[in-house]
Order: sequence, then C-alpha cells, then structure tokens
Amino acid sequence: MSKLLIVGTVAFDAIETPFGKTNKILGGAATYISLAASHFNVESGIVSVVGGDFPKEFLQKLNQKNIDTSGIEIIEDGKTFFWSGKYHNDLNARDTLTTELNVLADFEPKVPKHFQNPDFLMLGNLHPAVQMDVIQQIPQRPKLVALDTMNFWMDNTWDELMEVIAKVDVITINDEEARQMSGEYSLVKAAQKIHKMGPQHVVIKKGEHGALLFNNGDAFFAPALPLEEVFDPTGAGDTFAGGFIGYLASTHDVSFENMKRAVISGSNLASFCVEKFGTERMLDLTKEEIQNRLQEFKQLTQFDIDLS
Ligand code: AMP
Repeated sequence: MSKLLIVGTVAFDAIETPFGKTNKILGGAATYISLAASHFNVESGIVSVVGGDFPKEFLQKLNQKNIDTSGIEIIEDGKTFFWSGKYHNDLNARDTLTTELNVLADFEPKVPKHFQNPDFLMLGNLHPAVQMDVIQQIPQRPKLVALDTMNFWMDNTWDELMEVIAKVDVITINDEEARQMSGEYSLVKAAQKIHKMGPQHVVIKKGEHGALLFNNGDAFFAPALPLEEVFDPTGAGDTFAGGFIGYLASTHDVSFENMKRAVISGSNLASFCVEKFGTERMLDLTKEEIQNRLQEFKQLTQFDIDLS
C-alpha cells in the first residue's frame, strides 16, 4: 500500500454562507485532504500543529478514518490556527474575515520516522517554508510531490513560495491564484508560465466550473457536477487535491492518462464536500455514494459524435 504524507493546516474555521453560520468547527487544508484521501487504499499521515484548545475528539475523528495523526504536534499553551470566511450569493467568491496563524507562526514540522519515506507527498496550503522543511526531511524523493497554495502566501511569502514550487511535480491552485501567480489572464498562458517555475503538471481549479489539467502542451478538462444545492464551498479545493493525490497513490501510476482519472476523482469528492457545512459531509460519506456519483460524472461527460 502506498504511503501518503500530507502537510497542511489543521484548523478551527468559522464560516458564514447565505444559508447559515457556524461557530468554530473542524477545518484546515490537511483535514480536508486527508478525509478525501481516506476513501482510497493508501496509508496516510498528517504533519501539522494545533494548540491545547484543539479537542481530542477531532483527532479521533481522523483516526477513525485510518489517518495517522502522530505527526500533528500539540502545543499545550498555544492556540490553534483560526480562519473565518464569508460567502455571498455567488458562492465562487469569498471574503476572508480572519486569519490567525497562532501556533502556525513558529511551526517547525517534524515528520515522524515511519513517514520519512512516503511514496507520495502532498504539500497542502500553509507557509512555504514549512512545505520546504518537510521536503528536506525526506531523504529519498517520493514518486510524486504535489503542492497547493493560496493568495495569502503569494502576498506574504513570495520568494519562499517560488523556492518550494521549483521542487514539486504538480501544483493545484484556483483560477484567480493562477492569474495572480503568473500575471496572465489566459489560463493557458498562466499554466505555461507556472510550468517554467517548476511543476510539470498544473491543475487549475475553477470551483463550480470544474478543473483544468496542463502538462507542457497537453490539456484536459473535467467539469464539476452541476449540483442543485451548494451549501458551503469551504474545503472543496483541498478535497479535490486529496481525491486527486489519493487516487494517484492508490493506483501507483503518475502518467498523464491516469492524472485525468485523478482529476475526475478529485472533482467527484469535492462535489460532496460542498453539500454540508465544513467537514460534515466528508465524515459520513460512503463508498457506494462515491461510486454512484462517478457514474453520474461519466454520463455527464460522455458523448458520441461523428467526426467523418
Ligand atoms: P479551500 O476552501 O479548499 O480553499 O480551503 C479551506 C481551508 O483552508 C479552511 O479549512 C481553512 O482552515 C484553510 N485556510 C484558510 N486560510 C489558510 C491559510 N492562509 N493557510 C492555510 N490554510 C488556510
């Protein structure tokens, strides 16, 4: 079974959408990535940090999904990373209301011994210096290294971000971030510029408009499943990334053809994430529901046309 190491935030989130509002609930990039990847036959573990205020039952929820949390450091006298965001009627755009780094500000990641030889490495959204530190703790290069980031790190830690991006195989970012990173409005041109920064594969997430995969000239597009109701988009991007790398890790195949399937797999899981607040939907998702929706995806995208 492939080993998948996931680095990223484990957080408290407070979310407001047109449909309601939450107090502090379980969130964070690594949380969503690992929950999505838990639906595949992989051995996954998280490297992150939380404060003494983080409920043990949240860690237990992850353990129940066979996610190894021994790499989540607990700083007893510190506070957990906190993020709050607000969505308006257009659920594709959100305002970040608060980002409190707290224990993340001085985080020095420690990869547990039994995860120092992962086959796949997912550098989820967090400080690029932490992402780099984790790469340096892994003596043998994994089969594939993927990275996700966001505007916050582009605005605040550009140089460190560029250093780590140069070392990865795949980058997953949203359309707005791809434009910011490249200075190009066209996503095709943006992908070309991002390739030059390092990653062979560029995945651009477009929310309800699906995802694009670029590989130096080759391109693939997967739509998002048109859903009747979207409740809370938080974590959809991370869930996509978790479904993408979880699929690749479970199939041990990093060819472009298999990456297309991985993009579908990520889109499929993200379509569930948005149906309820926070991680709620991902925690009660079944294999059967995943398979049924994959079938819907196939029907949505398959067509015959006479090209003669
Ligand atoms: P997504 O909706 O997939 O972009 O990710 C939402 C998650 O990202 C939330 O659960 C937040 O805790 C987490 N998050 C928000 N801001 C940051 C940040 N600056 N660094 C790392 N994680 C963040």
